[in-house]
Amino acid sequence: MSTKHLLPCRCGKKIEVDVRQAGQTITCQCGAMVDVPTMRQVRQLERAATTGGKTAPRWSPLQGAVFAAGVLIAVISLSVLVVLFVRRIGIDTGKPEVDLKVHADWIHSQDVDTLWEEWMSDLAVQPLRRMDPEYLVNRRRVARLDFYMLIAAGTAVFGTVVTAAAFLIAPGHKRRSMKKPPAT
Ligand SMILES: [Zn+2]
Repeated sequence: MSTKHLLPCRCGKKIEVDVRQAGQTITCQCGAMVDVPTMRQVRQLERAATTGGKTAPRWSPLQGAVFAAGVLIAVISLSVLVVLFVRRIGIDTGKPEVDLKVHADWIHSQDVDTLWEEWMSDLAVQPLRRMDPEYLVNRRRVARLDFYMLIAAGTAVFGTVVTAAAFLIAPGHKRRSMKKPPAT
């Protein structure tokens, strides 16, 4: 069984030839006379599908690139989305119940020296500046994460659309180039 190769004609059709036809002139369906090149050049031509029928439609490099880019964008976006989501559910935004009376009672039960030491040690841990309570800081973090998640979801949709678009690109049979055009 000899391998068939595809010899392109000017009309765009591809004629199945095998190496034994090297040097011959064959007639295309369009009527054009096509010279079969040398054996060596025939072997370098695109191979015909082994089923003997038409070649299976193959993806063009552009289609492959668009598909790969789309999948990559979608996968990365979804991964980021999951990471952001996990981080978000770990944040507590609840406002804690603070019993001020307990604090007040404690302060009144201490002597001045103890209160002064307590005050100074607090300053050492936390510089004296306006600090937002943790739940407010957390709420801002959640709002920021929501914004990033929205962007990630948007790019995930974009990646999916790009992936789908790869299937819609018509196979560029006209532009599919041979590695070495046969010498005439
Ligand atoms: Zn032709």
